[in-house]
Amino acid sequence: MTGETIRRVVCPGSFDPVTNGHLDIIGRVATLFDEVIVGVGKNVGKRALFTAEERIAMIRNVIGEYPNVRVEAIDGLLVDFCVQHGAHAMVKGLRAVSDYEYELTMSQMNHRLSRVETLFVASDPEYSHLSSSLIKEVAGLGGDVSGLVPDHVLAQLTTRLAEHKAKSD
Ligand code: ADP
Repeated sequence: MTGETIRRVVCPGSFDPVTNGHLDIIGRVATLFDEVIVGVGKNVGKRALFTAEERIAMIRNVIGEYPNVRVEAIDGLLVDFCVQHGAHAMVKGLRAVSDYEYELTMSQMNHRLSRVETLFVASDPEYSHLSSSLIKEVAGLGGDVSGLVPDHVLAQLTTRLAEHKAKSD
């Protein structure tokens, strides 16, 4: 090291699956920091449609254009992951006031636990209605979600939802 500090940041989420809203935030953050680590966690409150390995592979498939972005699994506390990877901050996307209310308390808890800072990036209005849960719900009922997720994600989503439907019929 020459004494220069590498500005490294974590973009955490469950990404079940990754959407164009997530990718917009990741791409914008990649221009601001030296290194971005997309941290893929297990969301304790939600049942995932895709395994962590599948979610990681789907993100890796589309972040190729950013040489300073990598994807890793988060096992355990998010702030421990940040510290272990030498990141002093994480970035969250904010879609609406409802995101802010939840994220504010979470960021205060994370800061108390570890001094890791949380930075917020406002979502592009084009994507502010997008969430992975809504994508799954709409696609599951036969709605067209093309243009809202990358094409290979759409293909995997369609297959997985059809498998689930076949099992429940
Ligand atoms: P989701 O709410 O879609 O299940 P995640 O838990 O994977 O999302 O969210 C990971 C991060 O991405 C969070 O900071 C979340 O606020 C942000 N995010 C999710 N969807 C969007 C979007 N459409 N635009 C901007 N940020 C988003």
